[in-house]
Amino acid sequence: MNSASSSVEPVVKEQAPLLFLVLFFLVQATVLTVFTVPFSWTLVLVAVGSYFLRMFGITGAYHRYFSHASFKTSRVFQFVLAWIGSMSMQKGALWWAAHHRNHHKYSDTEKDIHSPSRKGFWYSHMFWFLRDDYNDYEAKLIPDFYKYPELRWLDRNHWIPPLTYAILLYVVGGWAWLVYGYAVSTFILGHATWTINSLSHVYGSVRFESRDTSKNNVWLALLTMGEGWHNNHHYYCSSVNQGFYWYEIDITYYILKVLSWFGIVWDLKKPPKKVIEEGIQRDRLKKEEMALVRKQKQEIKTKKKVEVLST
Ligand SMILES: [Zn+2]
Ligand SMILES: [Zn+2]
Repeated sequence: MNSASSSVEPVVKEQAPLLFLVLFFLVQATVLTVFTVPFSWTLVLVAVGSYFLRMFGITGAYHRYFSHASFKTSRVFQFVLAWIGSMSMQKGALWWAAHHRNHHKYSDTEKDIHSPSRKGFWYSHMFWFLRDDYNDYEAKLIPDFYKYPELRWLDRNHWIPPLTYAILLYVVGGWAWLVYGYAVSTFILGHATWTINSLSHVYGSVRFESRDTSKNNVWLALLTMGEGWHNNHHYYCSSVNQGFYWYEIDITYYILKVLSWFGIVWDLKKPPKKVIEEGIQRDRLKKEEMALVRKQKQEIKTKKKVEVLST
């Protein structure tokens, strides 16, 4: 945790409406129902499948499509994307994307809605969206999608997709599927998603000068289907791929690429050659710097040894 975590604003407790807070923590607490079901690997697979399906709803839909318009699709599939994202129980696509656009606009300034360096770890991780004043969003931040009535309807009724999804899981696999496919999976999905607001602005490496605290972190990239390449993303946020190089695993991008082969999505925006080359150059310089530091350390060690032997 960073040093600012001790400065989490107490305002969270005071401003969030009690009912919303109670409901939020009750849903979080349903993860404890895992103790009512005997463990099985099949159920783990159900949880993992449910996790990745809805993680794609956040990364491919809410983030790369609705927040950054990094590819195009049909109006029907756009609605499907918003629906899948909504199944993750992280409010509606318009709400999510409008706030996320603000995050990029004001990254790590006082106006950033979830900067760990400004407001503390837990605030950036999850407490920010429990605040009463973040229940709304400004339509002017997202005019390109706000114009669709079906999206506005889904945003107002963002509880319908998760509810129908939970019912479907129950109908198909009973209580055990509901517990693993919904309660356990949603709990982990939520915290994994929020690491991008919190951890990926604290831990990892910096390639580009993005004028904020964003980092690249391979572990977060694996957990979040490619979102861990957050420093790349903050530097060139309209790119559909956040892993800029072949060795930067980005599952969301691979899925979108496959969908493009079938004509379901198109016009995938890629980072310009200039950015790619700049990244290669910066990596090379970093490597050379590190090699130089290692060499200097070695030289100091050798010098000390010689001094010891000569005395
Ligand atoms: Zn960020
Ligand atoms: Zn973004």
